[in-house]
Amino acid sequence: MTNVDADVVIVGSGPGGATFAEVVTAAGWTCIVLDKGRNHLIDALPPHAPKQHFANDELRFMERHFLGPDPLLEPRSYRRSADTDGDRLFAGDVNNLPSTVGGGGVHADGKLPRFREDDFHLRSLLGAVDGAEVDDWPITYADLEPYYAEVERAIGVAGEADPARGGNPFASWRSGPYPMPPGADMFGATLSTAAAERRGLHPYRAPTGANSVPYDGRPACNNCGFCGFYGCPIHAKGDPIAMLSRALHTGRCDLRPECVVTEVLIDGTGRRATGVRYLDTSQATGAHDAPIVEVHARFVVLAAGAFETPRLLLRSNPAGGLANSSGLIGRHLTFHFQTLTVGAFPHSMLGHRGRAVTHLHDDHIVGDDHQAAAARAAGLPWLRGGIVEHGAAAGPVLEAKTLPPGPLHNEAMRRSDLRDKLWVFTMQGEDLPQHGNQVDLDPRLRDVWGLAAGRVTYQPHRHEIAASAYVAPILEHVLRDAGAEWAFTTTSPPVGDLTELDLLNPLGVAPASKHWMGTCRMGSDAATSVVGPEQRFHDVENLLCADSSVFVTSAGYGPTLTLAALSARAAHLLTDTPRERHY
Ligand SMILES: Cc1cc2nc3c(=O)[nH]c(=O)nc-3n(C[C@H](O)[C@H](O)[C@H](O)COP(=O)(O)OP(=O)(O)OC[C@H]3O[C@@H](n4cnc5c(N)ncnc54)[C@H](O)[C@@H]3O)c2cc1C
Ligand code: SF4
Repeated sequence: MTNVDADVVIVGSGPGGATFAEVVTAAGWTCIVLDKGRNHLIDALPPHAPKQHFANDELRFMERHFLGPDPLLEPRSYRRSADTDGDRLFAGDVNNLPSTVGGGGVHADGKLPRFREDDFHLRSLLGAVDGAEVDDWPITYADLEPYYAEVERAIGVAGEADPARGGNPFASWRSGPYPMPPGADMFGATLSTAAAERRGLHPYRAPTGANSVPYDGRPACNNCGFCGFYGCPIHAKGDPIAMLSRALHTGRCDLRPECVVTEVLIDGTGRRATGVRYLDTSQATGAHDAPIVEVHARFVVLAAGAFETPRLLLRSNPAGGLANSSGLIGRHLTFHFQTLTVGAFPHSMLGHRGRAVTHLHDDHIVGDDHQAAAARAAGLPWLRGGIVEHGAAAGPVLEAKTLPPGPLHNEAMRRSDLRDKLWVFTMQGEDLPQHGNQVDLDPRLRDVWGLAAGRVTYQPHRHEIAASAYVAPILEHVLRDAGAEWAFTTTSPPVGDLTELDLLNPLGVAPASKHWMGTCRMGSDAATSVVGPEQRFHDVENLLCADSSVFVTSAGYGPTLTLAALSARAAHLLTDTPRERHY
């Protein structure tokens, strides 16, 4: 190919795209990184200073879409199934991740556990489940382990490997220690972990992408408490500013914010990508006058996230989608099925200090005889839950919106029964892949740029519901033992028929885990998967995917460290560079 603008063009600057950019630029390649969001993270021009746009500002981050996308401008639609809901149940904010330079990494609170060895071969290990498409990954934990180690150092993950010192006794083997010790424990977690241990569970210090000590030129976290959903004002979170910063400092990375990629360009053979077309919205004065720009590259890498990547491919070829000979683009969408158990304490839990979550436990992933019996009782071959996050409730603005106005409002805010005195367990339950759960294009809805909106069709498998029903009483017991006066459980998405309340607030009907996976499944067989083990699309040899779209199963762990490790692996394989780099 002649006249290329760069070796690689990467769509999306979140953890997946940023990791890819870092590895290819370190290998001496040039790249252009396009992101449709604004840049509040790092100066794209030398000397690439971190921006100072973030503050502990609940209104800006939680209410005003500071990191976008505004659901009125970029709506998504949602339905549980075509049978129950027709074309859509509602349109708006469906499990949105930020659209900004840095993607969801910017305001994730960054618990970054690895998957375990079992997670890569569930089908062989545990067997099939009716109605689900559980499969083995085409790679193993051992294939990914060096890249896990590499991205833990690249991001800067604080954690403890030794179970005798608060590490996870169920974690798979690792080739080295974490680059940093864990940060301070949250007060509430000291109570909930002690009670969990009394119940025979094994809580551990959460591996977290926030500096516990100065690292990589960035300061230690000061436990400001506005972590999940907020950009870090001091850039103690490394994901993905650390990777973008290193890529930019090579001088070989051209970061372009506010560029909405509309299409992947393909040559006449249909088997080679030549680049992408985008709208440069930074130059637009309205919705319809953004200049259209094309960039050409030797390789095109999609890292737009597991919602936007399939949406882009499907609109790149309206006649069935680009690189879609399997018909599987957008299918096998998984989230995590969240079990939220809330305990109300008679005293402050000091949840406003700390990194949102400092402890996890894995027991409901690993299971035991009781969990196996619960599976049999539910008519299922096995049950797997997910990590349980020991954390606090939301901020004061949300609490104020929840409490009724009037003379008692101030007194209720001072008591803060609905925030300061709550402690919450969130289980990120493994969500089994199903053929019918998918992202496709809404037949009528358009975004502000005139592009077909993405539509989510999703309902949980009965496995997730049974796992949640089994674990919830255990979590409620632990919270009561920790001192809660009462505890209750809810789930996301809610289970059962919609209530009138649900219909008043349909947003609550859609899953809210912020974890998206599985819409361009990885596999060795082009008939049953979309990308191969090296994350190249089966149908288009120089098109790659570097986000969690490639996941075969969701596991019960946050996806981000695994998607970053996969991205690093794919970039090293592409550039044929050694996998161990040092920082
Ligand atoms: C509050 C919160 C807490 C979280 N906590 C955790 C956690 O503790 N652990 C964990 O593992 N995960 C967590 N997550 C999830 C985590 O943020 C995501 O898994 C991660 O960001 C996904 O990375 P990605 O690079 O695949 O995609 P994204 O981060 O979604 O980045 C994709 C980027 O692509 C851009 N883009 C999309 N389409 C286009 C287009 N057409 N043209 C140009 N650009 C485009 C977007 O603007 C975006 O910036 C959390 C998320 C949130 C919101
Ligand atoms: S808790 Fe720490 S890592 Fe999180 S936003 Fe505050 S200072 Fe940054």
